[in-house]
Amino acid sequence: MATTLSATLQTRFAWSTPLRTRFRDLEVRDGLLLRGDAGWGELSPFWEYDDAESLAWLRAAREAADQDFPAPVRDVVPVNVTVPAVGPERAREIVLRSGGCRTAKVKVAQRGADGLLEDAAVERERVAAVRAAFDELGTADAAIRVDANGAWSVDEARARIPRLAAAARDLEYVEQPCRTVAELAAVRRGADVRIAADESIRRAADPLRVVRDEAADVVVLKVQPLGGVRACLDLAEQVGLPVVVSSALESSVGLAAGVALAAALPELPFACGLATSQLLAHDVTDDPLLPVDGVLPVRRAAPDAGALAAVAAPPAVEQRWFDRHDRLDALLAAERVA
Ligand SMILES: [Mg+2]
Repeated sequence: MATTLSATLQTRFAWSTPLRTRFRDLEVRDGLLLRGDAGWGELSPFWEYDDAESLAWLRAAREAADQDFPAPVRDVVPVNVTVPAVGPERAREIVLRSGGCRTAKVKVAQRGADGLLEDAAVERERVAAVRAAFDELGTADAAIRVDANGAWSVDEARARIPRLAAAARDLEYVEQPCRTVAELAAVRRGADVRIAADESIRRAADPLRVVRDEAADVVVLKVQPLGGVRACLDLAEQVGLPVVVSSALESSVGLAAGVALAAALPELPFACGLATSQLLAHDVTDDPLLPVDGVLPVRRAAPDAGALAAVAAPPAVEQRWFDRHDRLDALLAAERVA
């Protein structure tokens, strides 16, 4: 087995793994690892993203594979545990087994199969269960943030945020309460809690509009959708707001690029959303980037044959990734010539 894997590992490797809990409407996460002179990079745009949108993800993968990351200014990165839209008992377990995280990001505003928003009481129970779990651990000073993924209207956000803040005892911030920048700005004007922008940065034609419109207190940066660690450092400088680095639900190879960004930022006032290897049933390495005492070490991750046996993508999925990579590579080459 080791011989076969090392042969496929020469240049690229397609991986696939179930998630421990359904997340972002996904039950399986997959991607492609690319090898270059500097190490491994990850290309894992979600399947609903077209080639134009996925090109930034390839730039990030190539940067990781071909270049050293910018010099770090810290050795460890504090991270948050991510609590998907689960019931209170499961939320408690996730916090108790988080590897010492002192910050939790709780998903709210989940839509059911019927398209309806989950009940406000259900969200509050989840958030209250997270606070109770931190109390159980004796970490009363732990921070709780919520992420609505843009699903609320302004009125829904205004109605739900104060009661969620009460359930959390204290809310560090509310991430992307509504879809548009104008709506974020409206919610922020009336709220006494910080607002963080995520989708309004990474899927926006003009990520700086959030700043001009005073729509956020914090920005969430993700390395792959924003085109790499250096591109994110440039954007962070232009934005001038506190940055939280989050993953795109990557394997440890992709997470390492997020860790490199978090390690290189001049200021890092909040925990980062990079503990998401916890959400994968299997990772591509026997030494995944998992938190100990709530922090990740600043290092790269490389796939190894022992771990890859459990995550090798089925042949049809592998072929789909190879085809996608070939198309994106051609686009990137054309762009460099132009
Ligand atoms: Mg988010």
